[in-house]
Amino acid sequence: MAVEAGSPDGMRARIAALLATVGDRMGLPIRGSCLCGAVTYECVAPPVWTGNCHCRACQKLSGAPYVSAFSAPAGSFSSSGETRQFSRTSDAGHLVTTTHCAACGGRMFAQSAGNPSMVNVFAATLLDPSSFTPISNVYLSEAASWAEPPPAALNFKRMPERAKSPSVGPTAAP
Ligand SMILES: [Zn+2]
Ligand SMILES: [Zn+2]
Repeated sequence: MAVEAGSPDGMRARIAALLATVGDRMGLPIRGSCLCGAVTYECVAPPVWTGNCHCRACQKLSGAPYVSAFSAPAGSFSSSGETRQFSRTSDAGHLVTTTHCAACGGRMFAQSAGNPSMVNVFAATLLDPSSFTPISNVYLSEAASWAEPPPAALNFKRMPERAKSPSVGPTAAP
């Protein structure tokens, strides 16, 4: 069946192809840790989304112009070590809880009540960050004027509409 470029099916196929390459490079399990090493995590499934988020919440929470992250099925993700949580309400009205290391404060991962089956993991915490590839930029409308967004295959002014890719993609800013 021919898939029309720009159609929801076409977008889904494109995202799937991009993510297959990303997953191959990252390998399994995906492992990461905070700066002090007290919190570690492991993910036994490949990412279902990767991107750079330029939203103001990510900027404020990280102190950086944007944050790179990947989404993975929550059931495939586990962490150990003492953590602290911070919750806020996203643009979509969902409670988003970010988990930090209790000792060094490093921002490790986040979950949205709007999509609790997914966990968004901050890619700079990866043990091998060079294995990571962001396929998207999101919230470009809020990007810092002094930091050029890195090149990515897909670019969104805000968050992509879930209706366009119901099985993949984030539902809230990480
Ligand atoms: Zn730590
Ligand atoms: Zn964000």
